[in-house]
Amino acid sequence: MYLKSIEIKGFKSFADKVEVEFTKGITAIVGPNGSGKSNICDAIRWVLGEQSAKTLRGSKMEDVIFSGTENRRPLNFAEVSLIIDNSDNILPIEYNEVKITRRLYRSGESEYLINNTACRLKDIYELLMDTGIGVDGYSIIGQGKVEEILSSKPEDRRLVFEEATGITKFKNRKIEAERKLENTRQNLTRINDIISELE
Ligand code: ATP
Repeated sequence: MYLKSIEIKGFKSFADKVEVEFTKGITAIVGPNGSGKSNICDAIRWVLGEQSAKTLRGSKMEDVIFSGTENRRPLNFAEVSLIIDNSDNILPIEYNEVKITRRLYRSGESEYLINNTACRLKDIYELLMDTGIGVDGYSIIGQGKVEEILSSKPEDRRLVFEEATGITKFKNRKIEAERKLENTRQNLTRINDIISELE
């Protein structure tokens, strides 16, 4: 599995549709200051479901939509797609190529799609869980992140290893199962109360 390409339209400084292709191995993006290198990383984070405008270096989510220049009017929506090669079937979906898309309109309306079919953000989280490329994964190491990982508490550092070894999915399922168990327990108590009232 690897990131084959990214399509960006209306996101931050990318008013026109831009496609950046990545090959296997190392890809370096170079360019003058302010030319949009970090905006590409922001775009990747954003599709993966980043909900914090601050992490994307803005103050509100709308800031990711192209805000116009002297010669160009602002756009009304931003759209980014990640195209992931899945020929090794690491992603639990029966497609050799997976396209994950996020769209945001100025009205605040937003959409997520997997292979052009609308889905919930939760579906994207679940698809990418334990692959390391989710929004909380370790595949995007921002400036200062290495230092943060090294200086963090052992328990926090452990989360990075749990994601890398594929444990996160099972931990989340355990939490969900425990919640259902607790609900069932409460229902049983209620039923027992009703039964004893009737007796
Ligand atoms: P550096 O090398 O200095 O880190 P960079 O190549 O990483 O720079 P970015 O930070 O990705 O550059 O891009 C910054 C540019 O993106 C700025 O010129 C800023 O005006 C522009 N920009 C950010 N958000 C928007 C937006 N919503 N609409 C239009 N342009 C935007």
